[in-house]
Amino acid sequence: MRLLNQVLTAAITLFIFLFSLHISAKTFYQFEPATEEEKQARILFEPLVKDMIELLNSEVPIKQDVTIVIGGDDGPLFDPQENKIYFPYSFFFFISDTFENEELAIEETTFDETVMNIFVHVLLHEYAHAYFANWDVPLLGKEEDAADVFATLFMLNVFDDPDMAYIAVDFYALLDTKTETIADLDLWGEHSLDYQRYTQSLCLIYGSDPEKYTFIMDKELKGIERDTFCIEEFHLKNYNLGKIILSNQ
Ligand SMILES: [Zn+2]
Repeated sequence: MRLLNQVLTAAITLFIFLFSLHISAKTFYQFEPATEEEKQARILFEPLVKDMIELLNSEVPIKQDVTIVIGGDDGPLFDPQENKIYFPYSFFFFISDTFENEELAIEETTFDETVMNIFVHVLLHEYAHAYFANWDVPLLGKEEDAADVFATLFMLNVFDDPDMAYIAVDFYALLDTKTETIADLDLWGEHSLDYQRYTQSLCLIYGSDPEKYTFIMDKELKGIERDTFCIEEFHLKNYNLGKIILSNQ
């Protein structure tokens, strides 16, 4: 069954991301008034937001108009009542502050590139919530995990450089190092723990190109066959995402 999935995946992935869809609903964006400091974030991120919206509208269009609101106090979150994604300016600074004085995932990458890749992953995660809600996508399991899978696979499939996803998900590894204790209530949370979010995405990244990312699998992980599992997992999840997109045209 999994072998069949792999064969189908190759065909469907190619089909989906080359196929131009004709859906009239669109994703828009609006920037809320910004302070002087916030304006710096707006200058850096506005071209990126525009490019991302163009990509989302062409690759994974939504059923009803959705607006990405940059600014305000709440978020990042998707509000299903308003069909809006909220992304506060403070989150840009939160990403920057998290990486201040930290080692970057890939040395050759600049600080700004790292921050932008993380922003793209989080934006895709929120868009996934909007996509699931608008298309009434049936999910079994945590929606938060499914949104992470959507974001990571989108980055791996659509962007030329697979390292963009690798750089982005390092954010969760770093957040984990800043977590001092894990309370029982954290285990009841909607989100998986930061380190689980990191390893779930790493598994897909490894599975997408085991040769390039061979360093991800150490002896211990190979001992529990995560290397073969992650390859299967990448193909299966990619196949499932392809099915979801094809059924929502
Ligand atoms: Zn979420």
